[in-house]
Amino acid sequence: MTKDTTTSAAVKPSFQQNYNQNKLHKRLRRLTGQAIADFAMIEEGDRVMVCLSGGKDSYTLLDILLNLKISAPINFEIIAVNLDQKQPGFPEDVLPNYLATLGIDYKIVQENTYGIVKEKIPEGKTTCSLCSRLRRGILYRTATELGATKIALGHHRDDILETLFLNMFYGGKLKAMPPKLMNDSGEHIIIRPLAYCKEKDISKYAAIKQFPIIPCNLCGSQPNLQRQVIKEMLNEWDRKFPGRIESMFRATQNITLSHLCDTKLFDFAGIKKGDAAINGGDLAFDRETFTPTALFEDQETGEEFNLPPENDLILWREIN
Ligand code: SF4
Repeated sequence: MTKDTTTSAAVKPSFQQNYNQNKLHKRLRRLTGQAIADFAMIEEGDRVMVCLSGGKDSYTLLDILLNLKISAPINFEIIAVNLDQKQPGFPEDVLPNYLATLGIDYKIVQENTYGIVKEKIPEGKTTCSLCSRLRRGILYRTATELGATKIALGHHRDDILETLFLNMFYGGKLKAMPPKLMNDSGEHIIIRPLAYCKEKDISKYAAIKQFPIIPCNLCGSQPNLQRQVIKEMLNEWDRKFPGRIESMFRATQNITLSHLCDTKLFDFAGIKKGDAAINGGDLAFDRETFTPTALFEDQETGEEFNLPPENDLILWREIN
């Protein structure tokens, strides 16, 4: 009998794959570290409760934070928390087994929110708002019980942009999803360390790491159609106009209040004849033209690009 070598040859990553995987890991690490620093998300002595749903985003968040913790210049603790909402078919052993292999502190909270939601919401009606409210309350309570000083969630750059468009299209607000915020009662600080990371990178990373993903449709709820439409719109833009998503995200970090129309945030009434021009003034009678600004930089040569370099051997970074 001849030995079948096809399988082992197929799974062994090539030098190029190893190189790309390493680069992907470094990019996620760098962008997460950058967001943590920019927003002072984690400070000396923090006890960070990482909310783990079993999806690709939260697995990646936990993995990258544990990795950053090893070389961070500050000391902080991590405790992973999963809320088992008692949805039918939820594989109870998956997360405890995974977390046990990591050897880290963790807690699985068991609360039958699924039963409450099914009892209170009539068949066919949207269940997400009650479900999220219950989940939020339980996670805040758990954070207090565990003495957590920060609550980390796995939302990423694309979640932030989708929320921005959802608010504009359906809410009439220029508002996205904050990388760091205080909850309503003023007791908990929520952080989103993956705020600068692309969903595409996170998906690739989760596949490479073979995280034991738990399906997100166990509750039987319909996906949020409005968010789905926005996601498809953004994905199409990304395919047709590379660099647009990066530029839009940069716009959320580069706001000119004097050139928007919110009288609560900018004192338009206070503008008087003879004042200096504000924020470079305005072309007033002309249409603005735009020169695309460089978004990426070769880390070795400093050469700037509008799009990510196609050559995989270039070590590049996004610049602000
Ligand atoms: S999709 Fe399901 S689990 Fe998620 S918030 Fe909605 S009802 Fe809850």
